[in-house]
Amino acid sequence: MNKSANVITHDVIVVGAGLAGTWAAMIASREGVTDVGVLSKLHPLRSHSGAAQGGIAGALNNVRPVPDTGPRGPLEQIPPGDDLIDSWELHMFDTIKGSDWLGDQDAIEIMVKDAIDIVYTYEHMGCVFSRTPDGRIAQRRFGGHSAPRANYAADWTGHVLLHTTHEQALKNGVKFYSEWVALDLIVEDNVCKGVIAMEMQTGQLVTMRAKAVMFGTGGYGRAWKITSNAIANTGDGVAIVYNAGVPLMDMEFVQFHPTGLYQHGILMSEACRGEGGYLRNKDGDRFMEKYAPDKMELAPRDLVSRSEQTEIDEGRGIGDDGQGIYLDMTHLGREKILERLPQVRDIALNFVGVDIIDDLCPIQPTAHYSMGGIPANANGQVIANAAGDPVVGLYAAGECACISVHGANRLGTNSLLDASVFGRRSGYAIAEFIKGGAALPEIEGDHLTRTQARITRLKSDPASGKGENWAKIARELKQTMTDDCGIFRSDEGLRRALQKVKELQGRFANAHVMDKSNRFNTDVLGAIETENLLTFSEVIVSSALARTESRGAHSRTDHTKRDDEDWLKHTMAHKTDDGTPELSYKGVNIDWEKYPPQERKY
Ligand SMILES: Cc1cc2nc3c(=O)[nH]c(=O)nc-3n(C[C@H](O)[C@H](O)[C@H](O)COP(=O)(O)OP(=O)(O)OC[C@H]3O[C@@H](n4cnc5c(N)ncnc54)[C@H](O)[C@@H]3O)c2cc1C
Repeated sequence: MNKSANVITHDVIVVGAGLAGTWAAMIASREGVTDVGVLSKLHPLRSHSGAAQGGIAGALNNVRPVPDTGPRGPLEQIPPGDDLIDSWELHMFDTIKGSDWLGDQDAIEIMVKDAIDIVYTYEHMGCVFSRTPDGRIAQRRFGGHSAPRANYAADWTGHVLLHTTHEQALKNGVKFYSEWVALDLIVEDNVCKGVIAMEMQTGQLVTMRAKAVMFGTGGYGRAWKITSNAIANTGDGVAIVYNAGVPLMDMEFVQFHPTGLYQHGILMSEACRGEGGYLRNKDGDRFMEKYAPDKMELAPRDLVSRSEQTEIDEGRGIGDDGQGIYLDMTHLGREKILERLPQVRDIALNFVGVDIIDDLCPIQPTAHYSMGGIPANANGQVIANAAGDPVVGLYAAGECACISVHGANRLGTNSLLDASVFGRRSGYAIAEFIKGGAALPEIEGDHLTRTQARITRLKSDPASGKGENWAKIARELKQTMTDDCGIFRSDEGLRRALQKVKELQGRFANAHVMDKSNRFNTDVLGAIETENLLTFSEVIVSSALARTESRGAHSRTDHTKRDDEDWLKHTMAHKTDDGTPELSYKGVNIDWEKYPPQERKY
């Protein structure tokens, strides 16, 4: 590290200390790049990866359903030498089908093949996975996967993966900047040169120069009212990159998870259904019989969330506002719940006062996962256009990226996998780039002054009669995205949403903060996060409005069918000079012989 007034220099700067960022930093440092700095706006171990509950996918073939007990019967170990039931090929097919054929199949192949190795690598690094009786890594079922391949540590999987990876990065001498916020990205002539960041403790802005910058800034569920995402998941990374002229891809695809805690949105892991939980409407019916007779509650998330919403919209919801559904785990038994789902039991007890051992738990769909993001290739290199030309020195992986392994809908447990596999691959690619002789690029413009001006404006007193608090703008945005850009969408609703987002952007130009101090100013942070929400929400709504079909998590009530003829393509959105997104499209990588598009039925 090299530090002078307002400038810090590293070989590599990673923004984000979740699984994706930490893997990249750990591998780059292990490959001989000793000068790696990682920024995180939270303490690294509070990154959202640590909240993941259910598991990480990988076709290890440790367990199978007990023969003749049906698809939801108990699981048993596969004895050595017996027939295997799972393979990376099956994992690949499930992922492609889950993606509604919008996933890039070359990237998916890399991910599912690497899955087996990455799970064992985690184990060798010290991860405490749950075990089968004979000591192998335990596996459970998850939605849309046709074999039990979710490798888990009770319902603390993300927590143990993140702690293990973080320790290894520390051991390698990676420098963590905890509670530092990236505000802007420096890209000049298609070369990435660093970021402008703020140290929360002092409020000081710093230019962080680097030969390579990697983004692992996570998801952006906070644009909706009900979400499973942590407060920090405000999509800063996607907004920052987009503002710097890099496109965003497939932003219209946002996943709603079927089991957020009623009126809170906090996640009740899909492991609840993986372990055998039922969904019931107010009449006690297991309504999934109607919508996915084969997979029932273990159909993919887009389908289950739509089924729940249909029950709710047709008057069969529960709760004061009729917006809830019951998750029934009362038949699983105390022992299984305490062993496999201790965290979700605590969450339900603490937030809605329900003990899932004895009582039905009220839940509702919750904004959960962002399939779209910063377009990158399978080495994490960010691409500048549909032709795939890289932005020199810029990498992205994890939920903020769109390497397009999830297409239009992600399968549960494929995200910890995606963040780990492509975080690791980014680390190798960055190390190669640096060791290949990458130089520290000179910065031409005065980026820091521009960023400082934004903050000064927020802190200055507005002209009388003008100006409002950013929190009100954020609230209205979340309501709009929930009402008009949620599980079901239509031309009329999306147009309304677009108009409202633009109105809110206009109002934000006069938004201000009450706290004018420098030290740990969360008022300024909240305002900046709100600006980011407004920026990428416009891209989501515009992309959704243009896509006149239903595919995966993007469900249009006025275009109810998938339309491969016109829409088997990725959306790319570029920011234009007047600030509005310009859309173009990019082909999907499909192996037409092996995995041609089919109707998606469960
Ligand atoms: C409740 C919950 C449960 C889940 N369960 C599962 C599961 O069981 N299996 C599965 O596969 N997936 C699961 N997921 C999804 C999965 O956890 C995430 O997609 C994945 O962990 C994302 O990892 P990441 O490294 O991309 O980002 P994150 O872990 O979200 O990390 C983002 C990092 O970026 C930093 N950051 C963000 N903005 C800035 C900024 N402006 N400046 C500096 N730093 C910044 C943050 O501080 C943080 O360190 C779950 C998600 C949630 C919300």
